[in-house]
Amino acid sequence: MPSILIRNAHLVLPDRADLPTGSLLAKGERIAGVFPGGDGPQTADEIIDGAGLAVMPGLVNAHHHAYSNVLRGTRNDRRLESWALYTVAYGYVLDAEAIRLGVLLGAAEAMRGGVTALVDHAPHVTHAEAALEAHAQSGLRVGYAPFLHDRSDHDLFGVALPAELRAAFDAPSRPPESIAEFFRQLVREWQGRDGRLQIMLGPNAPQRCSAALLELWRRLADELSLRVHTHLCETLPQARYGETHWGGTVTGMAKHGLLNQRLSVAHAVWLAESERDLLAKHGVTVSHNPVSNLMLGSGTMPLVDYLRRGIAVALGSDSANTGGAANLFEVMRLALMLPRPTTANEADWPTPQAVLAMASAGGARALGVEVGRLETGRLADLVLVRLDTALMQAAAPSLAALIQHAGPHAVQATMVGGRFVYRDGKVLAFDEAAVLRRYRERATAIVGAAADRLRLAERAEPHFTKLYPGF
Ligand SMILES: [Zn+2]
Repeated sequence: MPSILIRNAHLVLPDRADLPTGSLLAKGERIAGVFPGGDGPQTADEIIDGAGLAVMPGLVNAHHHAYSNVLRGTRNDRRLESWALYTVAYGYVLDAEAIRLGVLLGAAEAMRGGVTALVDHAPHVTHAEAALEAHAQSGLRVGYAPFLHDRSDHDLFGVALPAELRAAFDAPSRPPESIAEFFRQLVREWQGRDGRLQIMLGPNAPQRCSAALLELWRRLADELSLRVHTHLCETLPQARYGETHWGGTVTGMAKHGLLNQRLSVAHAVWLAESERDLLAKHGVTVSHNPVSNLMLGSGTMPLVDYLRRGIAVALGSDSANTGGAANLFEVMRLALMLPRPTTANEADWPTPQAVLAMASAGGARALGVEVGRLETGRLADLVLVRLDTALMQAAAPSLAALIQHAGPHAVQATMVGGRFVYRDGKVLAFDEAAVLRRYRERATAIVGAAADRLRLAERAEPHFTKLYPGF
């Protein structure tokens, strides 16, 4: 692969609030040199004049469901447990092409928004091949985490669904050995593909796994050396279930030997102090999804407390039909702002450096990949951000100004492993126009196919509203 030198740009360096001018050399798939205050080498295969640009590490979306990108604008005005009935109804009828379109729509949004890597937490395991083929085509770095679950919310919460509705919303039941074989095959065929794809284990949530499945989780992660990504205590009813049955969900996970540095958990909105300590002790990464948590009324993760305990934090956008845009700049801003009204001491408010570290190095930790910082030797996952537009003008360039004002509008180019996947308004990795055309042809049919299932969801929903007494 060629060498690319970006000269005279503002560099977003680890833990620095200023943006010093300098150069960066990418050679092959890695960063070969970072030169604050300097020009770097005299020659390279391509030399880019970085005047008016900032170079920042690629953002990592550490919790996303790619299928949801074909469901934008569908029902998104319910709490999680009710909302889930509808997304499951839509999801039930998605075919392989819908999954492929969801992945590629999401990839276009990601690279246009400076996201170079993401975790796709994937419920539709029967379409794993289609999803992985699309992820390979996308040019992005992806941790693909197919769901594991065999227990349904209505069972966990004792929701008395009529029999014909129960069957429609029961979790899948598959023999553990067939699940194990599914993951072994995915690993054989896809692990490490193109140096960008990673198979992860994606338990839906600890409480949605039987004891046998929790055991399979531990065993498979071990046998196949997989990183694991799961939802954790997103809502109050979930936390109450964990408290009643395990003395806390995280305590239960610890008993099953599931806590370690290879685990990342999404949400963690409702955790007891002892559970927070367990996450810190075992080096678990928490993926903070503030937009989704607000949209579904789930709550607010106690970010400042987690940082104080030394818990590793990454950022995620969650589903397009919960959090809306998969815009990591928006997520960073919320991580910056949300703690302020409830954190008395201003010195404890997360800084721009801290929220950028969550969105880059924190996500890299969740994926276990060497990205997330502009440092020699790291993989060259980079974003070029325009500072020369009306939206980005600041008296002096700084990280604070960048975090407060940037967004997809400011992204000039996105590079994954030394290769531009998006540049000057054009997706280079795949044919975005063809994806949009095909989605337009199929969008009505994709959503319309769920009509019967949606009627079941509407009938089931009243049974779930009792989960939130007092509201
Ligand atoms: Zn999620």
